[in-house]
Amino acid sequence: MKKCINCGADNKNENSFCSICGGKEFSEPYSSDTAPVQPVPPPAQPPVQPVPPHIQKKPFSFFDVLTILGFVSSIVGLWGVGFVLEPIGVLASLLGFFKGSRYKGLAAAGIVIAVIAFIIRLFMTLYDNNVLGRWAVDGILFYNH
Ligand SMILES: [Zn+2]
Repeated sequence: MKKCINCGADNKNENSFCSICGGKEFSEPYSSDTAPVQPVPPPAQPPVQPVPPHIQKKPFSFFDVLTILGFVSSIVGLWGVGFVLEPIGVLASLLGFFKGSRYKGLAAAGIVIAVIAFIIRLFMTLYDNNVLGRWAVDGILFYNH
């Protein structure tokens, strides 16, 4: 297509005279179906914020210390002072399990070990004081008649 200089009408390229006004001067031929297209900018990528290292890991808290102390207490209590150390182990491990942010497995182990050790120790003490008979404390291994 080309535009008539005189009246601005669109004319076919092969026209020698404007079909509207009969003028002879035309603009440079152009293609009618290729209007200049604005290049589409690529979608802007949202900037990736790097996660600061201090919130990638939860902070080491007082209750995490309690978890370790509770586990150690429950283990040491197996050898002595069980009536004191095992309850401490249970309480410290419970606090560490529910309030701490780390060592959940260690806290759970401390709870289980301390509770079992305390119950066994309790039964042994009751047996030693003739409160319970052997039926209450004997296991199935190394059973002596
Ligand atoms: Zn014209």
